[in-house]
Amino acid sequence: MKKILITGVAGFIGSHLADYFLKKNYKVFGIDNFLTGSKDNIKHNFDNENFHFLEHDVREKINISEKLDYILHFASPASPIDYLKHPIKTLQIGAIGTENILNLGVLNKAVVLVASTSEVYGDPLEHPQKESYFGNVNPIGPRGVYDEAKRYLEALTSAYNKKKKLDVRIIRIFNTFGPRMRISDGRAIPTFINQALNNSNFTVYGDGQQTRSFCYINDTIEGINRLLESNFQKPINIGNPYELSILELIKSIKRIIPTNSKIVYEDFPENDPKKRCPDISLAKKLLNWHPKTNLIDGLVKTVEYYQSLN
Ligand code: NAD
Ligand code: UDP
Repeated sequence: MKKILITGVAGFIGSHLADYFLKKNYKVFGIDNFLTGSKDNIKHNFDNENFHFLEHDVREKINISEKLDYILHFASPASPIDYLKHPIKTLQIGAIGTENILNLGVLNKAVVLVASTSEVYGDPLEHPQKESYFGNVNPIGPRGVYDEAKRYLEALTSAYNKKKKLDVRIIRIFNTFGPRMRISDGRAIPTFINQALNNSNFTVYGDGQQTRSFCYINDTIEGINRLLESNFQKPINIGNPYELSILELIKSIKRIIPTNSKIVYEDFPENDPKKRCPDISLAKKLLNWHPKTNLIDGLVKTVEYYQSLN
């Protein structure tokens, strides 16, 4: 039986990873300190004998007595309001937390996959973003704590690969969405869906012309699995290249939820990327991966999830 450790297991992506690998009949060890995650995302697995949960902070040394085959490092605040609330912790998780995980990987001779992000490209001057683009990040801007933590995570992981021969995978995830994103985590999709469901106004930052490309969670999980099973040790983009503006996203949500919500325009946050879209040719070529769920189908499933919480 393969053994896998998932950090950030009580979060949005981590909890879906746990479900996925339990279904594949892996023994799953999960770590989380509930900084931004919730027991509700994992409690359905508590009586599964193949699921072992450890409440622990990845910035502290990690002891797992069994030999691990794989480690997926997903612990980190991910939404702008979360990392703005925890700026120093975010940097420490990317630095100290990642180093702890990489050392555990060396000890176990495990494959270590680390979650990086499209934020390493910052407010990009190249469009769409290819893995070869070095990015445009303001290190001391509000998003710098997250962007630089992830850039450091990539640098450290790559150094462990070169110096210690650790078998690594580095995934640059573009905006992902789906069930289990915290209602109040401030990201666009949970915020707008819940504004629509409650007939409260849509809070659009700036003029709403900024673009994003949203990938449904099941596609992201499949991309992570394919990367893990590959032998590719450099950064790779996983995301949905269907790009739309924030105003178009709201239109799509209004097609699913009849609502009286109106748009209110608020200040555009400093360094908020004006455009974002992944070039996924590398993932297509190396992993034979591309997203299969279209935006509307993904939004429908996500809306059903939020409705089920009431
Ligand atoms: P999330 O906030 O739902 O999950 C993060 C989890 O990490 C939470 O359960 C939190 O409690 C846990 N955590 C935070 N600090 C910890 C610590 N010190 N020790 C142990 N656990 C800790 O966020 P998410 O959207 O699921 O993101 C997961 C990962 O994927 C993050 O590393 C994020 O940077 C990356 N990512 C996500 C997206 C996205 O669109 N969701 C995009 C790019 C990258
Ligand atoms: N956004 C917005 N209103 C909100 C939340 C987000 O206009 O209530 C915008 C935000 O400024 C950004 C885009 O939606 O341009 C995506 O934001 P999100 O926080 O989901 O992801 P990220 O900015 O990290 O890509």
